[in-house]
Amino acid sequence: MTRTNAELLNRAYRMLPGASLGSFYLLEGHEFVIAKGEGSRVWDVEGRGYLDFVMGSGPMVLGHAHAEVVAAVREQIGRGSTFYGLNNVAIELAEMIVGASPCADALKFCSTGSEATFYALRLARAATGRPRILKFEGGYHGHHDYAMMSVTPARPAPFPTPVPDSAGIPETVERDVLVAPFNDLAATRQIIEQHASELAAVIVEPLSRMLEPQPGFLEGLRDATRRHGVVLIFDEVVTGFRIAWGGAQEVYGVVPDLACYGKIIGGGLPLAAVAGRRDLVELANPRKKGAPDYVYASGTLNGNPVSSAAGLATLRVMRQPGTYERLNAVGDRLCAGLREVARRLDLPAQVLGRGPLANIYFTPEAIVDYRSSQKNDSRTTQQLGSALLDRSVLTNLSAKMYLSLAHTDGDIDQALAAFEDALRAIRGR
Ligand code: PMP
Repeated sequence: MTRTNAELLNRAYRMLPGASLGSFYLLEGHEFVIAKGEGSRVWDVEGRGYLDFVMGSGPMVLGHAHAEVVAAVREQIGRGSTFYGLNNVAIELAEMIVGASPCADALKFCSTGSEATFYALRLARAATGRPRILKFEGGYHGHHDYAMMSVTPARPAPFPTPVPDSAGIPETVERDVLVAPFNDLAATRQIIEQHASELAAVIVEPLSRMLEPQPGFLEGLRDATRRHGVVLIFDEVVTGFRIAWGGAQEVYGVVPDLACYGKIIGGGLPLAAVAGRRDLVELANPRKKGAPDYVYASGTLNGNPVSSAAGLATLRVMRQPGTYERLNAVGDRLCAGLREVARRLDLPAQVLGRGPLANIYFTPEAIVDYRSSQKNDSRTTQQLGSALLDRSVLTNLSAKMYLSLAHTDGDIDQALAAFEDALRAIRGR
C-alpha cells in the first residue's frame, strides 16, 4: 500500500511535536516524508526525488546506502546487534580513530555527539578539580545543559554571560558556563585569565559552524589554556574525518587535549567518541571506580558493533587515496558556482566553505563571528530553502550544506541552476 505524504504527515502531527524528529522541519506547503536514500538523493513516500544536501546532517559522507557500508552492517547484524561487553569491531574502530586523531592516545565510546562533549567536559572537571567551562557564542556542541548556552541567542548578553537556548535548564548550570566571542583572541584570553582558577575547560568547534578560525586564534587558545592548566577540547563532530583524515587538528595544525567525534565515525548509525590524552581519558577507566577522580562514562550501546561496523566501513573508504581531493573539489565547485550566481544576480551575498561544507549568507559584511553572522537576511535564507524544495533540492541553509563523495559534478551543476532559478524567483516577488 502506498502512503501519501499528507496522510503520514497527519499521523505524525498527532504524536510527534511539529511532525519533527528534532529541531529540523520543512515549512508548510513543502513538507514530505522520506522513504529512501541512495547516493546523493532521497525520495519521499510518493516517489519524488530530491538532490540531498542535508545528508543526514553529516554522517552520510559516502552518500546514502553506500554498498560497502550496507554490506558491513548486514554482515555484523547477523552476528548479533549488541553485547554490552567488549567486541572486536569496536576495538578496530578505536584503533582507526586513535591512529588518525593527532591528540589521541585513547578514547571512550558513546552514542551521540552530545554525549561526547558532555563527557569531555566531565573529564576536564575531574582532571582539574575546577567547575566552570568556557564556550564560544554561536558554537554548537549538542543538546545537553552545558552546551545549550549562547548557541543562537536572540539577544546576546555581554561576554562572558551565557544565554540559555532552551527552557528547562537549571540556573545552577548557567553559573558554570562562560561565553566568549569566536575569533576574538584578546577578549577570550582575558576571560580565561580572569577565571583561570575556576576554569576546567575551553570547548571550541575549530571551524565554528561555517566560520574559519582566523590565523593565530586556535594557537592562542592552545597557549592560554596550557599556561593556565585548562583542558582544551576540540569538538570535531563535524570536522572529524571530513575536512581531512586528521580533521581540524590536521588542517589548522593545533593539537587539543581532547577531541569529540560523532557523525562520520558511526557511518550513519549512532556512535560517537571522546578521544585524547591518555591521562585524561584514563579517568573513565571503570577499573578505577572508587578513586576520587574516577569519571563515570557508560551507556548501553557504547561501541555498538553494528554502528562500529558501519563506521569502520565508512572510514576504510575515506582512507583511500584521492578521497579528500574529491571532497574539496566538489565543495570548491559548489562555492565557486554560488559566488558566480550571486555575482550574476548582483546579490550582496557571501559564500563560506571548507571541504565538503558550504553555505551562502545574504549580507555584504564580513562574517567572522556569531554577531556578524546575524547580519544575514534570514528571510531570504528561509524563502530560498523552500524555493529549492520546489526545484527538488533539499537543504538546511539555517545550518549548512553537506556534500558527499556521491555528489557528482552534474549534481552540483543541477543545484546551482536551482539556486539561480530560486533566487531569481524570490527577487521577482
Ligand atoms: N557538536 C557539533 C559540532 C555538532 O554539529 C553536533 C550535531 N550537529 C553535535 C556536537 C551533537 O551531536 P549529536 O547530534 O550526535 O548529539
